Amino acid sequence: MGEIYDVIIVGGGPAGLAAAYSAWQNGAGSILVLERDREPGGILQQCIHNGFGLHHFKEELTGPGYAQRCYDLVKDKPEISIMVDTMVLAVRPDKTVCAVSPERGRMELQGKTIVLTMGCRERTRGAIRIPGERPAGVYTAGAAQRMVNMEGYLPGHKIVILGSGDIGLIMARRMTLEGCKVQGVFEICPFSNGLTRNLVQCLDDYGIPLYLSHTITQIQGKERVTGITAARVDEHMCPVPGTDFAVDCDTVLLSVGLIPENELSRSLGIELHPLTNGPVVDQHRATSLPGIFAAGNVVHVHDLVDFVSDEAAIAGKYAALTAAGKLAAAERTLPVVTGNAVRTCVPQRLRLTDEGESVRLFMRVTKPIRRVKLVIRSGGNLILSKNLLAAKPSEMIAVDLPAGKTVGLQDDLVVAIDEEE
Ligand SMILES: Cc1cc2nc3c(=O)[nH]c(=O)nc-3n(C[C@H](O)[C@H](O)[C@H](O)COP(=O)(O)OP(=O)(O)OC[C@H]3O[C@@H](n4cnc5c(N)ncnc54)[C@H](O)[C@@H]3O)c2cc1C
Repeated sequence: MGEIYDVIIVGGGPAGLAAAYSAWQNGAGSILVLERDREPGGILQQCIHNGFGLHHFKEELTGPGYAQRCYDLVKDKPEISIMVDTMVLAVRPDKTVCAVSPERGRMELQGKTIVLTMGCRERTRGAIRIPGERPAGVYTAGAAQRMVNMEGYLPGHKIVILGSGDIGLIMARRMTLEGCKVQGVFEICPFSNGLTRNLVQCLDDYGIPLYLSHTITQIQGKERVTGITAARVDEHMCPVPGTDFAVDCDTVLLSVGLIPENELSRSLGIELHPLTNGPVVDQHRATSLPGIFAAGNVVHVHDLVDFVSDEAAIAGKYAALTAAGKLAAAERTLPVVTGNAVRTCVPQRLRLTDEGESVRLFMRVTKPIRRVKLVIRSGGNLILSKNLLAAKPSEMIAVDLPAGKTVGLQDDLVVAIDEEE
């Protein structure tokens, strides 16, 4: 089998590159990044708009600019190898990796540790079952983004977008800038699922209508999309009879959610979380299998790539320390449990030594809320609280728990929203 790598990283997006750099900074002597695309950088390669990097690099970058910064940190390090055009087919609990590339054929590679950074993919029409014919002209927003920004094709001229997540909003602006007419963005929830800045900069600035509590009930057209029927939905998200109306369009772009890409994790037997759809991880981003770590969108869908980089740096560091046998054994493991109005929290467990450790928790709320208090309790005792002016499901909340607050913790950590303010 040849060389045994200290760290093998599956996926060369921003998470994979940040994990590689951090593993190198923390002493790993041989690091291999495997990327199935033609070049590293992940989804950022197609995100040519700006707005990236304000937290991590302290300046505003485009997606490719951010990816280049990540790549520049790893490219000339003899300890780091990157194989592109290389698809990982399987990862096994003994840390062997089966991969294939046109140049090298089928390979069996051995790591002391593995970091999973496969990102996520978009939900498609099949996942939401929109009735109607199956004409050409229905794309996911990300696929259309790749076509326009990387391949140089325009998917259509008169566009309807379903879903007001960030990709949908960004594509509404992008298609407008390319000379298309965006007829509207339809959102089934009573609130947008995108960042507020994207609502303003992508829809309001271009006068593109946003229909909240609306969905597409039918796609028309036999060979090519000729239009859609939209309708208002009730509080159960069911179309309200009599509210339907027709919209003329030749293209429908779907921005209806992202699914962490976890086929490899599933067949590896890693514990997955039912709500994040990613591996359950501790604060070091260690999964349920020893020596296997995960970070980035494969763990939970992030709102900003800056947080992806931070999280992957943690995974890379602890993968390197584990490979070198330098990680202190944990004294106890505590689950992190979500309470009132908190949908998800990552990490989902803490592995603590007696010295304690500072931990950053990332949360998403279940609904838009204003002027509330985020509270963290353990065994009924208040550990930390933070006033929130506003929170919405599309925006992650990050809370830092100082090391001192984790010393001596014995019971579950419960994170919840106190709505009685
Ligand atoms: C349309 C869009 C707009 C966005 N806009 C913004 C924005 O304005 N600001 C911002 O901060 N963030 C934005 N983001 C989010 C940001 O791009 C992501 O948070 C970030 O790219 C996630 O990094 P990642 O490395 O986890 O995943 P990815 O970037 O998806 O990288 C994963 C990599 O793993 C590879 N891979 C997967 N499976 C395998 C396998 N089996 N073998 C080998 N390789 C594999 C993939 O090819 C890919 O390169 C946007 C995202 C999208 C989709």
